[in-house]
Amino acid sequence: MASSLKINGERLQRQIDELAGISAAPPPVVTRVLFSEADLRARSLVKKWCREAGLSLREDAVGNIFARWTGTDSALAPVATGSHIDAIPNAGRYDGVVGVLGAIEAIQAMQSAGVKPRRGIELIIFTAEEPTRFGIGCLGSRLLAGALALEKATALRDPDGKSLEELRGAAGFGEKDLHSVRLASKTYSAFVELHIEQGALLERDNIPIGVVERIAAPSTLRVRLTGVGGHAGAMLMPERHDALLAGAESALAVEHAVLTSGSPDTVGTTGVFRIEPGAVNSVPCRAWLEIDLRDTQVATRDAALKRIEAAMAEICAKRGVAYEFERLNVDAPAICDANLVQTVASVCGELRLPVKKMISRAYHDSLFMAQICPTTMIFIPCRGGVSHRPDEYSSPEQIENGTRVLALTLERLAGIG
Ligand SMILES: [Zn+2]
Repeated sequence: MASSLKINGERLQRQIDELAGISAAPPPVVTRVLFSEADLRARSLVKKWCREAGLSLREDAVGNIFARWTGTDSALAPVATGSHIDAIPNAGRYDGVVGVLGAIEAIQAMQSAGVKPRRGIELIIFTAEEPTRFGIGCLGSRLLAGALALEKATALRDPDGKSLEELRGAAGFGEKDLHSVRLASKTYSAFVELHIEQGALLERDNIPIGVVERIAAPSTLRVRLTGVGGHAGAMLMPERHDALLAGAESALAVEHAVLTSGSPDTVGTTGVFRIEPGAVNSVPCRAWLEIDLRDTQVATRDAALKRIEAAMAEICAKRGVAYEFERLNVDAPAICDANLVQTVASVCGELRLPVKKMISRAYHDSLFMAQICPTTMIFIPCRGGVSHRPDEYSSPEQIENGTRVLALTLERLAGIG
């Protein structure tokens, strides 16, 4: 059985390359921000490939795409798989895409082998896994799982002040209300996401497949600092309330809180730091920071978060700068389903592919799918652990291995006949 599934690696690679050509920036850069022209074009290409594979399509009010291969027993909940095709600015071609196009290929491999699954197999292409537009990641899967309050979702605005309501309407998803996105907890029997590791452990250990047991707990903090602007020559130092300097000290406070958390798994990043007015002869009057903080243990993460907020309050008081913190998300870690992890591991055994049990330090739509059904992830190596960069790379062979493991796992979970 294991050997009868033939993955068409060439077709898969061609599709990955073609999709990478749909980008707001010239190659090799891939930039596909939620509901941008590139995102909408990429969606229609992937939907075309789904139709060619005989899948029936549905889209929900936030733009999540569901492509189903119907099973022989419609009374059974389908098995789900999927990932995302949006990409942060200046990204590469594999993050998310491997899990979407790999799933279409896995389904086609089963179809060519004459497999008739008992449970349906449903591919989900999640809306906005990346937080670029609204500052919050996994927008689509959060709403599916009911992990984002609707008042919070409808209040979301992008940096240009456009609301999610406005943007989803303009993208053609405005007909239904956002509350219709939420799925009941028995909708799927399982969810398995294929993804590049975005770390270097598999490559270091020369292991082709990882299976994920836990996903680290992420949180995002947005900070607005308001100081006093003025002429860089005329405003003497004792009069200053410089928003940039308060922001710079705050970024260092993040690093300090993380380094002294007592756990090597705590990581903190100030990934956004914008100032106004941004002129060389003007004292910065406003600063805007976005901070990402994660840990595998929620208690250490939350303790670091509190210390960061306390340190910032102190820095701002000292500098006479007003501050506003907003916790955009503070999520729990996900524990993957032990039976699913075992299924993936035994599939790897059958395929004679060494497998490593791992923690996902990046978060994924799986973090939220785990709240509504048994979930795990299949990782493949990526060169140097590099991701979210144009030089992100997984070899055709690595992608084919992951796709084969996904196909056989889905076949096992769906049952035959
Ligand atoms: Zn991803």
